[in-house]
Amino acid sequence: MKIVAIAGGVGAAKFLRGLTRVVDARDVTVIGNVGDNIWVFGVYVAPDLDIVTYALAGVWDDERGWGIKGERFSVRDSLRAFGVKEAEWFALGDQDFATCLFRTLLLKKGEKLSSITDKIRKKFGVRSRIIPVTEQELTTMVRLDNGWVSFEEYYVRLRSEPLIHKIEYKGWESSEPAEGVISAIREADRVFICPSNPLASIAPILVVPGVREELKAIRHKVVAVSPLVKGKAIKGPADRMMAQLGLEPSPKGLASFYKDIAGTLVVDELDRESVVSSGINEPRIVFSDTLMVNENAAERLARQALYL
Ligand code: GDP
Repeated sequence: MKIVAIAGGVGAAKFLRGLTRVVDARDVTVIGNVGDNIWVFGVYVAPDLDIVTYALAGVWDDERGWGIKGERFSVRDSLRAFGVKEAEWFALGDQDFATCLFRTLLLKKGEKLSSITDKIRKKFGVRSRIIPVTEQELTTMVRLDNGWVSFEEYYVRLRSEPLIHKIEYKGWESSEPAEGVISAIREADRVFICPSNPLASIAPILVVPGVREELKAIRHKVVAVSPLVKGKAIKGPADRMMAQLGLEPSPKGLASFYKDIAGTLVVDELDRESVVSSGINEPRIVFSDTLMVNENAAERLARQALYL
């Protein structure tokens, strides 16, 4: 069985850890979000690609939600001592720093992001393929009261506190799917849209020309998993962002967001009432315990979503 996972960071990482306990990890191709990638300290940080890589390698700091377990932050601390402003709000562990530095060195030599991502996952012993959705820089930007900032700055520096008026995926028009993205979707027996932030993690993948069309064509094989339980995100600003940007944070809102590309939406048991009262016609709704409190819970969810 060939499986594709459309993935952001935390929600995707937890789901993929469960999924790779159910199927052979080599049968899974992850199509990763690059919208939160950011240049900091002169290195190119790809938070979502790295979270997924570290999670599948078993080294992810799942309590913090990013980076590698047990990291020291000596480089960042030294930069802070030098008065580097970014070090006040952006943290990178020492090994994580090396991953980003390695990526940057190869990018500067002209190597493609997809090939570098492949080298990184192999170095960490990850058997699933991880492909950034595009080679091009495609940056999720949000408009706040006093102008545009990158999503990563809004998320990390501003702690997702300000009100968002608008969201855009800068660079999407000229982006192209990285090699392997379209063929993986075409060859898939099952595509998962991971329980990631729909606007900040999934949409920047769907806007890459060609991706949405391919998913539409195999919609009956596509299963989206809700990142919300009772209208609330488990972590992060997905619920607030949805409300602020006019998308109801509920099964109904998710159904309308995914119905053209997903045949099935998995929502939490606790949302049964909301589903019944809102009369969702499409996609088909399946109930499950979607809270991945540990790897066993993630495995259960993945197994159910796989054998629907
Ligand atoms: P980010 O880029 O690291 O924010 O990554 P994601 O977009 O993948 O992850 C954030 C989303 O994951 C949030 O909307 C959370 O609600 C969702 N999430 C985190 N843990 C869980 C969980 O245990 N179950 C479900 N269903 N969603 C989760």
